[in-house]
Amino acid sequence: METNQNIHDAWDREHLWHPYTSTIDPLPTYKVESAEGAVIRLADGTELIDGMSSWWCTIHGYNHPRINKAAIGQIGKMSHVMFGGFTHEPAIELGKLLLEMAPPSMHNIFYADSGSVAVEVAMKMAVQCAVARSGSHAKTNFATIRSGYHGDTWNAMSVCDPVTGMHGAFGSALPVRYFAPQPKSRFDGEWLGDEDFAPMKELVETHADELAAVILEPIVQGAGGMWFYHPEYLRKLRELCDRTGVLLIFDEIATGFWRTGKKFAWEHAGVEPDIMCIGKGLTGGYLTMSAVLTRADVAESISRGEAGVMMHGPTFMANPLACAIAVESLKILKENDMAERLGELENSMRELLAPARSLDSVADVRVLGSIGVVEMKRSVDVGRFQKECVRRGVWIRPFGRNVYIMPPYVISDAQLAKLCKELIEIISDERNY
Ligand SMILES: *Cc1c(COP(=O)(O)O)cnc(C)c1O
Repeated sequence: METNQNIHDAWDREHLWHPYTSTIDPLPTYKVESAEGAVIRLADGTELIDGMSSWWCTIHGYNHPRINKAAIGQIGKMSHVMFGGFTHEPAIELGKLLLEMAPPSMHNIFYADSGSVAVEVAMKMAVQCAVARSGSHAKTNFATIRSGYHGDTWNAMSVCDPVTGMHGAFGSALPVRYFAPQPKSRFDGEWLGDEDFAPMKELVETHADELAAVILEPIVQGAGGMWFYHPEYLRKLRELCDRTGVLLIFDEIATGFWRTGKKFAWEHAGVEPDIMCIGKGLTGGYLTMSAVLTRADVAESISRGEAGVMMHGPTFMANPLACAIAVESLKILKENDMAERLGELENSMRELLAPARSLDSVADVRVLGSIGVVEMKRSVDVGRFQKECVRRGVWIRPFGRNVYIMPPYVISDAQLAKLCKELIEIISDERNY
């Protein structure tokens, strides 16, 4: 199976960029023929149990009959129409469903193309709002915490972790932001006390005159380190932002739509943001789409500002096909007891990954909702690791020292058991990674 040419395409290797790859020495890529439920089928018939939900997206699994039907139904009407001067039922229906799920104070919705674009839009909103409110063009910068990940466009990159992110490669091309340390208090541990928050407090108090907003991922830091931190940090941050007149942006692109066991991760802390980014699971993994939600007073300040409008308007804004698909995905969430389902997944994953704790090569194991992380003591060789995954019939893509899974919610007990068992067996032999 290792040398099966059906699953490695030479033309692809020569001409197509894949995420974060070299054209000279690309990582192996495997050709997918189809996918259904929690199973991805390769060109040679090999079946892989999906541990990644295609990077957080495919929450209901692949090839979902109801979502397929919604997509086909919408294509028969129109796949796209410009949102400037027009509106349509899918956009309206989606908006209503989103506001039902969102923090109660959210009121205005901006549909965007991808997670990174949502972050750009949220940052532009924050600047427009802060400048309008303060009358000062100095309030345009941002603060964040280390080990965050917010996407790959310029402003998104600028608030990603400066060490593990892409600051090295892009240097002075990136705007300079303020960084506080990553919160040390674990989600599943004790709040370590005010010292865990002191650096952020000092940073924001010192630079409030320059800051439009603080942006961070609530509770779960995703691609920047797969770290789960204590809700108290967010409660303190909300107080601080209110007191200093700095907006608070939650990037819930990875954490949204029940992934952490709640509709959105802010619920773990009970504090709401001024601006919130959502994406990834929004269309159930069918199409790229994101949204930025704000409080009414933020939207109002923007509209009363110098420009008088929100200065953004993508070509594919509120794409009807993506909206119709997202509507169906949200209906499926609404009709099911997701709190119970995610509770089951969390308990199973906690139990199934627990044996990894006893391995000498493992630094930490943590589980929240349907996110399971095995943090290794050293970095993992992705190419070698994935070759072993494919041989064993599972799909996991480690990053740095973290071997992690966030499977589709429809994964069966047997599939989840196999996924976790193979993960542990792979990391049990050092030659595999
Ligand atoms: C993936 C991700 C993004 C970027 O989304 P894209 O759709 O890849 O542009 C932004 N923020 C967080 C927290 C993410 O996980």
